[in-house]
Amino acid sequence: MNILIVDDSPSIRSTIKYILNQAGYTNLLFADSAQKSFQNLGLADFNKNVPSTGQKLDLILLDIVLPDLDGREVCRIIKSVEHLRDIPVIMVTALTEIEHLEAAFTAGAMDYITKPINSIELLVRVRSALKLKQEMDQNKLREQNLLELTKQLEKAVEKLNLLSSIDGLTGIANRRRFDEYFNSECKRAQRNFTFLSLIMIDIDYFKAFNDTYGHQAGDECLKTVATALNNILKRPGDLICRYGGEEFAVILPDVHQEGALAVAENMRTHIESLCIEHKHSKVCTYLTISIGVVCAPPGQLSSAKDLIISADTALYRSKHEGRNKVRLALLT
Ligand code: GH3
Ligand code: MG
Ligand code: MG
Repeated sequence: MNILIVDDSPSIRSTIKYILNQAGYTNLLFADSAQKSFQNLGLADFNKNVPSTGQKLDLILLDIVLPDLDGREVCRIIKSVEHLRDIPVIMVTALTEIEHLEAAFTAGAMDYITKPINSIELLVRVRSALKLKQEMDQNKLREQNLLELTKQLEKAVEKLNLLSSIDGLTGIANRRRFDEYFNSECKRAQRNFTFLSLIMIDIDYFKAFNDTYGHQAGDECLKTVATALNNILKRPGDLICRYGGEEFAVILPDVHQEGALAVAENMRTHIESLCIEHKHSKVCTYLTISIGVVCAPPGQLSSAKDLIISADTALYRSKHEGRNKVRLALLT
């Protein structure tokens, strides 16, 4: 425990030193003026809030009458500095000065002892002040630990939320995220009277792909397709999800029919141009996708479910009309 004794009287300083040393308090610092005490506290100037470079202090015994500045003012300054505020201050005063103590208590002093120094009184006051300081330090540490834990927890929750919305294989959004985002975008489109487009994609003859090249190669192929499709999307509001096994869904908020068809066609040709070998596909020697597109113009979106059914129906038509095609759903 480090104690700073601020007193201009050498005899008082040595009396306090003797009593405290005898009681086992050996880490003592001394100052004979306000200025020196500020130096001990790491304050370059009376009024400057300079962070402490000095030793960590646990208690200050402060004379009320100092040659350069009133002890009460010194107390006020110490208490106004954020990182010194918690150091308990005990005023040391002659009996005749007791009535002047009020300002010191207002400034934040916690206790006082009178001169001439009585060793029992000094030790009792010092011990209780140090105990209080220790408790305050422990509380502060607990608070800091709690704050740190809270931060870590928040980060973990954030990560968990992200993970729970991402498809483990492909790294794009999962079905859960799709449901959440699509429902909120449907509501937004209805509220704001805007377009909303939805694209459903299904890989052609993917069972045959797995049967031919193995499940592992199938997984790799799904990753490649997901990344390629995702790279086509440019707007921050666009979202591609893995809707099911080899099916993907793309939500395009605020995109009209022509825009959605263009994105879909771009996706179809892009996947074909990747030239992923698929020798048992009945439509092409490379991997292809079939696409269903639906666009709800402003005011014509009945429900999220209806829009999905329409996109699915269009996808079904694309399959039936030869695969590797884009088909548009007509809203009834
Ligand atoms: P279609 O052209 O009519 O869509 O035919 P298809 O073979 O693609 O459709 P089907 O629904 O019969 O088969 C889908 C296949 O997708 C079957 C399944 O093994 C495969 N599949 C689904 N999820 C995964 C996956 O995570 N990894 C792999 N490797 N294959 C998957
Ligand atoms: Mg399928
Ligand atoms: Mg398929």
